[in-house]
Amino acid sequence: MKKLLSIVFIMFTITLLSGCGVEKQSASLMEKILKNDKLVVGVKFDAKPFGYKDSDGELKGFDIDLAKKIAKNILGDENKIEFVQVTPSSRILTLTSGKVDMIVATMSITPQRKHVVNFSTPYYVAGQALMTPIKSDIQGLTDLKDKKVIVVLGSTAERNIKHYSPRAIVQGYKSTGEAYNALKRGYGDAFTTDDTILAGIVMDDPTMKILSKRYTQEPYAIAFRMEEESDSLRHNVNHIIEHMRDSGELNRLKNKWLPFD
Ligand code: GLU
Repeated sequence: MKKLLSIVFIMFTITLLSGCGVEKQSASLMEKILKNDKLVVGVKFDAKPFGYKDSDGELKGFDIDLAKKIAKNILGDENKIEFVQVTPSSRILTLTSGKVDMIVATMSITPQRKHVVNFSTPYYVAGQALMTPIKSDIQGLTDLKDKKVIVVLGSTAERNIKHYSPRAIVQGYKSTGEAYNALKRGYGDAFTTDDTILAGIVMDDPTMKILSKRYTQEPYAIAFRMEEESDSLRHNVNHIIEHMRDSGELNRLKNKWLPFD
């Protein structure tokens, strides 16, 4: 009798489990990451000190360390990660087309973006500023009338500068690197983006300066696809970020990459 009961129990469990399998139409992203033993992350390659290639071609920065920390937590090894280059104009499509599992690329939370991606809890707050050649007379937003202001296409600065300096002539470039080169070559009078990214440029280029005023707040967060399959990954990432905040690790990352802040 006992044997019969245990057979019935096993049959019942199998039926229940296979039932679950049918109900769940696709494996969650978290399951896929564990199966592939690899996390695929969209990052910037030209935005020091968040995501950039050093002189040896190695990817470094705050966002890179954060992504590695997440890979270490999920897969037990910070190197089980593939980095894919994104820019402000390509990052959402790179994510929604399924090329990457998530984006860690100085990406600010905005109400517009919340319609197309889900964000993690914020991990850093930047602010938008202006950078000019050191000899420039521009002192702030009010001096930008009829001046050429360089922005990166798809960045929050592209949108914000039109609001804060409606008389400025806005010129868009595809990446941070291209925008900086344009300013350097004299194609514009100022470049506006996050103070963090501008600080990374000024670290290596003493011919540029950052003006003191910050005219927005830019909360950086990790972006995920809106589909339910990404939810478990997002919950895990939120847990990791909160733990890093509580343990002081986020602060240590900040001090490592932004010691001047
Ligand atoms: N944080 C800003 C944004 O999300 C600008 C930084 C960037 O160039 O990615 O648009």
